[in-house]
Amino acid sequence: MSTSGNNLQPTPHIALLPSAGMGHLTPFIRLVALLTSNNVKVTFITPHPTVSISESESFSQLFSTFPQITRKQLHLLPLEDSSSKSEDPFYYHFELIRRSSHLLSPLLASLSPPLSALVTDMSLTSTVIPITDALQIPNYIFFTSSAKMLSLFISFHTLVDPKAKDFVEISGIEPIPRSWIPPPLLEDTNNLMKIYFTQSGKKMKESSGILVNTYESIDGESLAALNKGLVLKGLPPVIAIGPLPPFKFEKSQPLAWLDDQPAKSVLYVSFGSRTAISREQIRELGDGLVRSGKRFLWVVKDKKVDQEDEVELVDLIGHGLMERVKERGMVVKNWLNQEEVLSHPAVGWFLSHCGWNSITEALWHGVPMLLWPQHGDQKINADLVERIGVGMWVKNWGLGGDPLVVVKGKEIAETTAKMTGNEFLRLRSAQVKDEARMAVGEGGSSYERLNDLIESWKSSA
Ligand code: UDP
Ligand code: UDP
Repeated sequence: MSTSGNNLQPTPHIALLPSAGMGHLTPFIRLVALLTSNNVKVTFITPHPTVSISESESFSQLFSTFPQITRKQLHLLPLEDSSSKSEDPFYYHFELIRRSSHLLSPLLASLSPPLSALVTDMSLTSTVIPITDALQIPNYIFFTSSAKMLSLFISFHTLVDPKAKDFVEISGIEPIPRSWIPPPLLEDTNNLMKIYFTQSGKKMKESSGILVNTYESIDGESLAALNKGLVLKGLPPVIAIGPLPPFKFEKSQPLAWLDDQPAKSVLYVSFGSRTAISREQIRELGDGLVRSGKRFLWVVKDKKVDQEDEVELVDLIGHGLMERVKERGMVVKNWLNQEEVLSHPAVGWFLSHCGWNSITEALWHGVPMLLWPQHGDQKINADLVERIGVGMWVKNWGLGGDPLVVVKGKEIAETTAKMTGNEFLRLRSAQVKDEARMAVGEGGSSYERLNDLIESWKSSA
């Protein structure tokens, strides 16, 4: 047992292992920072190399802000069979980390003081649990999407031919339309997403607990169904600890243009860290933004992985559009600190691809959303946001990356006007912002859950 500083409370030692991509890394970093501020000794195991530059920069920022965190690198082994390399680079990296998981055994065993628990990303569940079991270390899974999505994740392996029905039925959960299920999961052939969903989803039952970056007031139904054993019997506790607040150190260079805009006048447009939009859709989107007459801050992405994104901004959107944008808008191609953008007083709305982190950040800052889900869990996320009354989802807008289905600028402009004119969305977002802060504030539901967890780690330290 180790003890902290001047009191004799035992200090738990927790190791954490994230997976690939900012959508998985960001919540891990927030959890690491939060545990460290709660006097937990943290070892952060960082897979090496990372897929994107954003990930490696985030690691550097975290470790320079919190020198007390121990860093251990997990050096990923190359795959002998690289046939799946053509699939999504982030899912490919999930697979690399999964296949390198055995390297964790000596690493975990060597840590001192001995670990109270390991917290792992959900995509690594099936390969890491056998290792922590052998070492007798409690294993917690951190699920980085909503509790509703968790219900699908843990039940997926039990579904019989889900593509054959219009709705996917999961006990305890409202039926999910088939079109909201990530398409790779409905394919007949195997693919990396289906493999990790099936194998890790099945193994979740054997973890010591499942942490979720969500909270009661937005995801209460699914949380209750999961914890009452309605979704799957014998599940460990599902512990809602979100929305994990952004940490101050995430701040970067401020965007001067925003400072010059009136309060709540700007529509912020971003499709997250790994979603590329087709050239044609980019141009229609730009046209729509200009036509809407609103001020806007637009982040354009041409490639899934940042280091491959080499096209000049002006070549991407064209000279004509570039000039029109300048009248009321700002367009960038580089990484902007989204947390900082959403917290800026000039930002009034968010056109989002509905990544779960983007959503929790918008809720945290009380910014109403125009929802344009693209991949993976994003339609399920969009539905959740629409239900709580802080977003508008036009369901027939297709995927922005699909060159065959392009939403025209005129329609984007009209929808934008409708959304930004909706006073109810704005009022409701302000309420939801308060609820989000209450959940993680002293005495709030997520605050209490995390506290209980840390206490339980202390008593076993
Ligand atoms: N993000 C950012 N700047 C960008 C794009 C993304 O800070 O230009 C952050 C965003 O705030 C969020 C994360 O990266 O925390 C992206 O995660 P999300 O779940 O929203 O979507 P994903 O990128 O995984 O699709
Ligand atoms: N994808 C993404 N962000 C996500 C999830 C998926 O960019 O959060 C991309 C990724 O390239 C993946 C592809 O979308 O391989 C498939 O995702 P989706 O589940 O939507 O299937 P698709 O519609 O492309 O068939």
